[in-house]
Amino acid sequence: MVRLTHERVLLIGDVQLQLQSALAEALPGAHVTSVATVFDGIAELATGSFTAVLAAAEPIERRPEAAVRTLRELAGDGRLVLFGHPTLELLSQKMLQFGCDDYIITPAGAAELQQMFGRPPMRISPPATADEAPASDQEPAAGETEASPLDLLASLPYAEIFLDAMLQNPHNAPAAAVSQINERLGSSLAMRYVRKKDGPIEIPQGWVAVSQTVRVSNEEAGTLHLLSEPEPAQDEASARHLLAQIAQLFGKVASLQDRHNRLQKLAITDEMTGLYNARYFRHFLTRIIDRAKLMRFPVTLLLFDIDDFKKYNDLYGHGAGDEILKQTAQLMRRCCREHDLVARIGGDEFAVVFWDKEGPRQPLEPGKQVGVSRPPQTPLQIFERFKKLIAGSDFSGLGQSGRGRLSVSGGLAVFPYDAQDVDELIKAADDCLMFGAKQSGKNTIYLVDGDEPNTPP
Ligand code: GH3
Ligand code: MG
Repeated sequence: MVRLTHERVLLIGDVQLQLQSALAEALPGAHVTSVATVFDGIAELATGSFTAVLAAAEPIERRPEAAVRTLRELAGDGRLVLFGHPTLELLSQKMLQFGCDDYIITPAGAAELQQMFGRPPMRISPPATADEAPASDQEPAAGETEASPLDLLASLPYAEIFLDAMLQNPHNAPAAAVSQINERLGSSLAMRYVRKKDGPIEIPQGWVAVSQTVRVSNEEAGTLHLLSEPEPAQDEASARHLLAQIAQLFGKVASLQDRHNRLQKLAITDEMTGLYNARYFRHFLTRIIDRAKLMRFPVTLLLFDIDDFKKYNDLYGHGAGDEILKQTAQLMRRCCREHDLVARIGGDEFAVVFWDKEGPRQPLEPGKQVGVSRPPQTPLQIFERFKKLIAGSDFSGLGQSGRGRLSVSGGLAVFPYDAQDVDELIKAADDCLMFGAKQSGKNTIYLVDGDEPNTPP
């Protein structure tokens, strides 16, 4: 078979399957090794060589510097990239200073990955400390002239740098642009961006900084610093002027990026409840079943629907109905494990995808029960806990007598036992809900074999 790329990629902690399929599409023929934990990742790195390491930012959130430094060391010349939810962007951005080459906000598409692999790594080298400053014998010989660092800074093609950054890295264009600028600046000037909430910058000993506030959509967002060594940039007024112009561009690119991120989040979110929407639910379920087929683990789908919701709408108004939907969403989110996907897929209909984050413990075959109860107890227990919470919660929209009035019905189906693909699985769970739980009197859950389960303890 023709290999279309030489990339050997180690994917660490892609538990939400945000990247695996996009990678397959972006780099056909690449050899991708996917492992669940940083531990597994370190073991893989110790035994094999990879051209790129893509690591989830979330598991290393508590000790990111140490983790990134370790991965950097083990990855050798390979590209080291963090990925994660938009809330981890700040952390990932910071890690560019500790050996990370780039980061990706998930969910990411194939085009974004392709662009990232198509450009050179963008590692930021921290400015040299006084101890590491070049020795004086490296200075140009008498009579030799050298463009001043400030002239170099003034001559950079900013429009091109910022536009490229936006095209190639829409999630962190400003950071990408700053690292591009740094790559061209040589060793005695360095640009740094620090967000307002991150506090003041640490200036290496012997270096001085000229600083400029960056405003994003008219709000003060952070500060752009121009660090120079050993003297202040020869002409401080020029340095300030230049930095002010760059900060303006930076602010505009940052607000475009914010808009991009907001739009992307909107595309996968149900606006009323904040849960994932039906489109993303289907996308995720398709991906997880693809992976479950390969790695042989079960995927459980729960569909649930509020009983007699129309009645509450009619009695208390649409606004009260909306509140019920929001509270129901929050209660289910509270009951689930973080990696279970909870979505609102219709008016008062919700879905939860349960799957085994730790991967297969034993091989599974459709039609055979191998060491795992069918369906797994956990989704049932979660549904029972949720039902109790619903029964015991105050639904303010239903007035003082709101507690105990609301109930939900569910249908549950498990891949690969009850269905062989996404459509079959959705249909199986929906049949349980509509023809089992709802028809039998509601406030219950039905499984594919046609029974109500014994309520687990
Ligand atoms: P069942 O027990 O069989 O589920 O009965 P039901 O009354 O809940 O019936 P059904 O699930 O078919 O009705 C859903 C209702 O949800 C119909 C629609 O008016 C209402 N609805 C759909 N979207 C929204 C929404 O965004 N807000 C509010 N308040 N109501 C909605
Ligand atoms: Mg309903």
